[in-house]
Amino acid sequence: MNGLPLKDPKLLRMQAYVNGEWLHADGGATVAVTNPATLRVVGTIPQMGAPETRRAIDAAHAAQPGWGRTLAKDRGRLLRRWFDLIIENQDDLALILTTEQGKPLAEARSEVVSGAAFIEWFAEEGRRTYGETIPAPAADRRVVVIKQPVGVCAAITPWNFPSTIITRKAGAALAAGCTMVVRPASNTPYSALALAELAARAGIPPGVFNVVTGAPEEIGLELTTNPIVRKLSFTGSTGVGRKLMAQCAGTIKKVALELGGNAPFIVFEDADIDAAVEGAIASKFRNVGQACVGANRFYVHASVYDEFAAKLVDKVKGLRIGDGAENGVTVGPLIDVRAMEKVEDHIADAVAKGGRVLVGGRRHSLGGSFFEPTVLVEAHANMKVAREETFGPLAPLFRFSDERELIAAANDTEFGLASYLFSRDIARIWRVAEALETGMVGVNVGLMANEAVPFGGIKESGMGREGSHYGIDDYLEVKYVCLGGM
Ligand code: NAD
Repeated sequence: MNGLPLKDPKLLRMQAYVNGEWLHADGGATVAVTNPATLRVVGTIPQMGAPETRRAIDAAHAAQPGWGRTLAKDRGRLLRRWFDLIIENQDDLALILTTEQGKPLAEARSEVVSGAAFIEWFAEEGRRTYGETIPAPAADRRVVVIKQPVGVCAAITPWNFPSTIITRKAGAALAAGCTMVVRPASNTPYSALALAELAARAGIPPGVFNVVTGAPEEIGLELTTNPIVRKLSFTGSTGVGRKLMAQCAGTIKKVALELGGNAPFIVFEDADIDAAVEGAIASKFRNVGQACVGANRFYVHASVYDEFAAKLVDKVKGLRIGDGAENGVTVGPLIDVRAMEKVEDHIADAVAKGGRVLVGGRRHSLGGSFFEPTVLVEAHANMKVAREETFGPLAPLFRFSDERELIAAANDTEFGLASYLFSRDIARIWRVAEALETGMVGVNVGLMANEAVPFGGIKESGMGREGSHYGIDDYLEVKYVCLGGM
């Protein structure tokens, strides 16, 4: 990364990390990584494939018994050291993240710090993976349940949160005594490789945490079909998740999937409208709308629709678009032109069907993949924005007046990741929160993820939970020991 002002330039690694070594691809092939704000090439990574992945899996396999036998408190100490190093190096890690991904530096730093919190959390939680004794159904028997690491785990991760999505998987896996092979997205690999560098410095043994870079299908096929791998944790789109799940079927792997969303954001007539607008800005425009839990459909009660729309437009006008590395920028570029074209397509479709753009709606004058944050009113169920994840800075406002119809509309999607509701009526809050078919419900908040909660979706948004004690359970097998002849 030419000219990147890192305090510690060694954090910028352009090789893969396998078995404690920094490696090129077998044939030396590389792939370029581009800064989405400047469109300049910032470096390369090895274009690895199946053979290198197989060796990484073998390394993880060789390291697993020793790591699994290491006392939980000693694993915790190493993870804690990893956490400390991430926190100490947060400025550099944030700059690397912004340079490869585009989000504003403040958001990147917040991702690095909140991502590190998963490692800190699991460093502690690893000591509390308690088993159980069960009253035996026979007088001469005793039954004890123990929990053991799943074994070698694979992680395939996307570009939108290139640091947090890895730490939330790796923290849980390593704390549980599993070893891991991670394949980060090819457009945001440097955050993953910097984490590997810090894992090495923390003293995490070779083979425990490996990062391979390169061809998605080829690496993915090896990770999902190699019998040594016992669990796949994938975060990304529902389409790819479905395919990887099918590939895992051959060897009956455990599968955790964090997939797409289509989050409803509901504003009732009794809501604090200013708070709802704040929540909407955070939920919709963080990471320029490229968040799986980000609000996709805004349902606003008819009696407060115009007020909410006007206040939201006002706030949107205050957002500052630009290169995330510049001071004061609050919205960066989309990851690429293809992502921008999807936003344009959703706007054009909505406008053709009666939607009206109140602010934004166009490519930004900065060029590249910069797009104007957009608010659109008169959205309807027959528009693409109602059915598909836009994954960009578009807030479509749907009008409702009946709670029952609203719930039916909110649930009328194959996705079930997050939902948000703003209301001050406690009975309504419980009623609606229980009726919404999502894994997470935010009440009077626009952001709700952290290391202490079970993050994850239902329906076609996935399975498994990350964070909290549920998160570590996903990396543990349950075994019962039946003792006879007492
Ligand atoms: P994607 O599914 O295209 O890619 C995700 C990762 O999988 C990338 O690293 C990609 O290179 C890799 N990949 C693609 N095809 C593959 C294949 N055939 N085999 C193996 N690997 C393959 O998704 P994306 O566009 O990078 O990310 C955006 C999507 O991720 C959105 O749908 C978003 O909602 C979802 N997402 C979900 C969560 C969550 O926690 N539920 C979090 C972030 C993003």
